[in-house]
Amino acid sequence: MSKNYNELTKDELIEEIKVLKQELVEEMKYNNEEFLVQFPWAGNLGQWKWFYAENRVIFNEKKVTQLGYNPKVIGEIGFEFFTHKLHPDDYERVMDNMRNHLIGKTEAYEVEYRIQHKSGHYIWYYDRGTVIKRDTLGKPIIIQGIVFDISESKRVEQKLCDLSERDALTEVYNRRTFYVKVDEMIQQKLDHDVPFSLIMFDIDNFKAINDTYGHLVGDDVLKKITQLIIEDKRHKDQVFRFGGEEFFITLPNTGMDGALKVANRLHQLISNMNIPKVGQITISMGVVEYLVHETIDDSIKRVDDLMYEAKKMGKNRVKY
Ligand code: GH3
Ligand code: MG
Ligand code: MG
Repeated sequence: MSKNYNELTKDELIEEIKVLKQELVEEMKYNNEEFLVQFPWAGNLGQWKWFYAENRVIFNEKKVTQLGYNPKVIGEIGFEFFTHKLHPDDYERVMDNMRNHLIGKTEAYEVEYRIQHKSGHYIWYYDRGTVIKRDTLGKPIIIQGIVFDISESKRVEQKLCDLSERDALTEVYNRRTFYVKVDEMIQQKLDHDVPFSLIMFDIDNFKAINDTYGHLVGDDVLKKITQLIIEDKRHKDQVFRFGGEEFFITLPNTGMDGALKVANRLHQLISNMNIPKVGQITISMGVVEYLVHETIDDSIKRVDDLMYEAKKMGKNRVKY
């Protein structure tokens, strides 16, 4: 039943406003409580509601207990409680996604990110939300969303990605990844004149090792050599298995002088190895610095020719 406010005195009006205000508070509380219902069947589902103007975020317990916090202890929070914990590599992407949604560019805010647990490690989340209420000017009033812990599927995804980039036996990068990384270095050379070099090597008389000691021992030699290189190499250099017993080492930001030093050291290191049963082994190496406007295949051909020359000259040497 509508009231005729014109007939009320000032005091009655003030009283009326108080009642309306109380009703509004009750209504909001009801709405919030409805939202905050805990769904015991919801697994790792977290829910949140963000009151934009006052920057207040409400949430079900899961949303913060999963991050190691006690909701009763943290009390009232704003969105920074979560954004301050975002992984630095994800921060801008998440913010852009949210900004685009808030200004109405996208239908929903939807993003995957890592957020830091209280004890330091990161958890992967899928987060999706939408503005459920805007004012007459289109400014957001309430944004509501859900989050899922997707750490497990991220682990599987990462594992599959690693497997597709690496060689199963030695676990160094495979030939496909070699092309990707060299492409990146070529781009660096063209854009910023950053030099890079390539070392290619092939194990000498490897067939004889297989024939004498068996394939498993041969496999072990491949693993031991790559392991040694990984332990010794500079952080930025990378190792690739190009084929059977042929490997590449990429040397970013390195010209011929630096590359030769690395090659000679590795050559020495490998010939000093003493492999159980097999004893000592040697390798033949080629070294090139990338020349601008060469294709990857041009560089590979040059370094392969040098390695072949090393073989022809009696193996166990570095050619450049
Ligand atoms: P060179 O000194 O001229 O390089 O002679 P080589 O005997 O090393 O070269 P060749 O190309 O004749 O033999 C390479 C051998 O490497 C043949 C192949 O069976 C072996 N091989 C390739 N991949 C693997 C592998 O994954 N495990 C093992 N054990 N052997 C492999
Ligand atoms: Mg060989
Ligand atoms: Mg070979």
